[in-house]
Amino acid sequence: MLKSLDSPLEAGEVALVGAGPGDVSLLTFAAHKLISDCDVIVYDALVSDDILALAHDKAERISAGKRGGRASASQEDICATLIALAKQGKRVVRLKGGDPFVFGRGGEEMRALAAENITFRVIPGITSGVAAPALAGIPVTDRTTNATLAFLTGHEASEKSRMDWQALVAAFPVLVFYMGAKNLPQIAMRLTDAGLSANTPVAIIHAAGTQDESCEIGTLQEAKSKQLIAQSPAIVVVGDVVDCRIDWQNKS
Ligand code: SAH
Repeated sequence: MLKSLDSPLEAGEVALVGAGPGDVSLLTFAAHKLISDCDVIVYDALVSDDILALAHDKAERISAGKRGGRASASQEDICATLIALAKQGKRVVRLKGGDPFVFGRGGEEMRALAAENITFRVIPGITSGVAAPALAGIPVTDRTTNATLAFLTGHEASEKSRMDWQALVAAFPVLVFYMGAKNLPQIAMRLTDAGLSANTPVAIIHAAGTQDESCEIGTLQEAKSKQLIAQSPAIVVVGDVVDCRIDWQNKS
């Protein structure tokens, strides 16, 4: 029988755990249990302090991501650390923002662990591309606007793009960008060049599920001309679905 996801970790086992968008209440039950009962937590920059505070006092905490300007560990080093800790018999939680497999390099870590025959499990988390629009009151699918949606990385807009922007715009009425803050003007330019109207609504949801959460609404034209600016971490939603927004958190 399948072991339940929230059963205690064995010595030498690694859990790749999604921490959700930030708020403790948006952790899964399994994530909560494993975080509070492990020997070591290897965490990324976007994991909130409130979530780390759930760990046992004696649990070792290892930062693997950029925080306060410090350089982040390379992916190879992170994989090597996870493998070394597991081989020491530690019960390891590898904690990542959102979901481990959505723009989170969880796949690379899983393959590295599997190649060393290390026992591991994967605990999905609520990905920010879904949580941020929901918290801002934007339904990512709505029968009035879209039957499909795309999740993308904003990094593709500046570098050599692997994306066919025209095909993208033609196929997906709603686009949800991760890592889109820095390149927002380039993203807007790519989209309007590909035929999307400059009046298409854009929502920028910053730090969803934290005390700093904010949502700004504008258009592709405003994003292109830098009137609308995004600050990382932010999810950028492009499409008419933004007009379906009800700001339920600030409804008096
Ligand atoms: N695995 C993560 C994504 C990691 S990539 C997930 O599933 O959510 C990092 C990007 O995620 C950030 O650049 C930002 O676009 C987004 N992100 C993560 N946490 C966020 C939050 N609390 N609010 C808004 N965007 C967030």
